[in-house]
Amino acid sequence: MREHFDLIVIGGGSAARDAAGKAAREHDAKVALVEKERWGGSCPNVACTPTKAYLVVAELVHDINELAAKLGIDAGSATVDLARVKARKDTLKKPQEQWVSDLEGQGFTTFTQSATLVDAHTVQAGDDVLESERILIASGSRTAVPPIEGLDEVGWIDHISALELTDLPDSLLVVGGGAVGLEFGQAFSRFGTKVTIVDALERIAPLADAEASAALKAALEDEGLEIVLSAFVSSARSDGDEIVATITPRDGSAEREVRVTKIMLASGRVPNVDGLNLDGVGVETTKAGISVDERLRTSIPGIWAAGDVNAVAQFTPIAQYQARVAVDDMFDAEPAVADYSILPTSIFTDPELAGVGLTPEQAEEQDYEVEVVRNLFVRRFSYIDAQHGLFKIVFDRSSRRVLGHCRNAPCVPDLRRGGQGSRRTSPCRAGGLDGHEHGSVGRWPDAD
Ligand SMILES: Cc1cc2nc3c(=O)[nH]c(=O)nc-3n(C[C@H](O)[C@H](O)[C@H](O)COP(=O)(O)OP(=O)(O)OC[C@H]3O[C@@H](n4cnc5c(N)ncnc54)[C@H](O)[C@@H]3O)c2cc1C
Repeated sequence: MREHFDLIVIGGGSAARDAAGKAAREHDAKVALVEKERWGGSCPNVACTPTKAYLVVAELVHDINELAAKLGIDAGSATVDLARVKARKDTLKKPQEQWVSDLEGQGFTTFTQSATLVDAHTVQAGDDVLESERILIASGSRTAVPPIEGLDEVGWIDHISALELTDLPDSLLVVGGGAVGLEFGQAFSRFGTKVTIVDALERIAPLADAEASAALKAALEDEGLEIVLSAFVSSARSDGDEIVATITPRDGSAEREVRVTKIMLASGRVPNVDGLNLDGVGVETTKAGISVDERLRTSIPGIWAAGDVNAVAQFTPIAQYQARVAVDDMFDAEPAVADYSILPTSIFTDPELAGVGLTPEQAEEQDYEVEVVRNLFVRRFSYIDAQHGLFKIVFDRSSRRVLGHCRNAPCVPDLRRGGQGSRRTSPCRAGGLDGHEHGSVGRWPDAD
C-alpha cells in the first residue's frame, strides 16, 4: 500500500502520542503512527510506571520492617514475593491490542512495523509506503552497554529485564548511579537483595544539587546499599553460579572484586536510530542522539525529532513538550522555540531527590550573586524518624529572584503543598514552565 498522510510519526511512545494527538486535534491532520514493538513506548510499559510500582512495594516493606515497631505497630516481619510483585505490576500495563484500538479510535492509522526513511518525505513500514511533507522521529532510547570485558559472557540485565525477574537475586551490581540505577538499587535492596552501585563519577545523581546528592547517598548507605564512586566496572567473569566483577578506581588505587548474582546496567542511554537510514537521508546525529534546533527541526527540512532520541533531557514531560513544539512548527501554528530554562526533575527514591531551576553551582557559573537558604529540619521528618532531609532555595542576592530549589526529602507532598513542616518554604514551589504557550512541563508521575 502507498498512502499519503499530513504527518508520519515514527514511534508509539510519549512524544509520538502527544504529537499525533495535537496534530489531529488542533490541525485536523491525518496521522500515521509506526511502532515496531511496544505501543505506549517506554514510560508506561518498562520505565516510569512499573519502576514506581516497585518503589511503592519497596517503601511499604521497608516501613513495615524498619518503622512500624518504632511507631507502635506490631506488624511482624514482611518479605517480598517478587513473582507476585511482578504479576501485579503487569496488571497496571495496558495490553498492546488495547493501545492499538485506542489509537485507531482516536483516528490515527497505526502500523506495527519497523520504520525506515526512504527519503525526506517517505517512510517504509513493512510492505507499506507512507508519504508526508512532515515526519517526526520519536524513536526513543535504550540501555547503553559499557565496555566491560567479559560482560557478554556473564550476561546482564537492564530496566526491562529486571522488571521480568520472578526470583530475587541474592546480590546485584548496579552499574550507574543516576536515576535508573538509584531507583532500582533501592527497590531491590529493600526487597532483600544485597546491592552495590558503582559509578565512574564523584557523586551519584550528578545532575542534581551536590549537597542533595550527598544527602541521598548517606540515606541509601544507612539502609545498607554499598555505593562505590570514582570507579568503574572493568571486567566480569563467571564462577559457578556467581559473577565475579572487578571494580577499578579511577585514581589508580587497588582494584577489588565483588561476587554478585547479577549485573544491572544503568549507566546511560543510546538513541534508537539503527535501521532508520538517517545517514542515507542526511539527518545529522551525534553519539548522543539526533541533532535538533530549538524548534526540534533536524538538519533535513520536513523531518523533526522529539523525545529521548535527541537526548536533550530524557524525561517523559520533556518528550511530550518537545512533541508539541515540533507540531506547532510543522503546521506554522506558532513561531515558538523550546525553552528548557526551568525543568523540574525527580529521582523517586525514598527520600526523593527533586529539583527545579539552577543548582548553586550552575547559578555561580551564570554569574549570579548566589545565596542559599536551607531547611534541614522539616517537622514531619521526625514523625517518620527520617535521618536525612534537605530543602534548599537558591536565589540571586541583588534581585532577590529565586533561581532554583531542590529537596531531598521524605514527605515531599507536605513540602509541595506547604504543609505543616514547610510553611516558610512553600511559596517557592516552582511548577516548571507553567504558563508557557505549549503548556506546562511538570514531572511524571506526580501526585498533584
Ligand atoms: C527505568 C526508567 C524509569 C524512568 N522513569 C521516569 C520517570 O519516573 N519520570 C520521567 O519523566 N521519565 C522517566 N524515564 C524516562 C522516560 O521513560 C523517557 O524519557 C520517555 O519514555 C521517552 O519517551 P519517547 O517518546 O522519547 O520514547 P519511547 O517512549 O521510548 O518511545 C519510542 C518508541 O519508538 C519505537 N521505535 C524505535 N525505533 C523504531 C523504528 N525504527 N520504527 C518504529 N518504532 C520504533 C520504540 O519501540 C519505542 O516504543 C524513565 C526511564 C527509564 C529507563
